Amino acid sequence: MSTYEAQRPIHRVRCDVGGCGAEFEPTGDWYPRDGHLARQAAAKAGWDVPPPRGKGSRSPYDFCPDHARR
Ligand SMILES: [Zn+2]
Repeated sequence: MSTYEAQRPIHRVRCDVGGCGAEFEPTGDWYPRDGHLARQAAAKAGWDVPPPRGKGSRSPYDFCPDHARR
């Protein structure tokens, strides 16, 4: 058996504003090993991404810097 992971999964955050289509893909130290890290990286980059769960969650939508509501 010589099974290996040929390509790591890529996680991107996409703006939920209709017609925008902007996507954020973490790079470097933030290489997207999982979706949660990708969201943290997007937040640092100016994206408006609510926490995935919990009291701080304001909406289920994500927004690129151009559409951020904060
Ligand atoms: Zn947008």
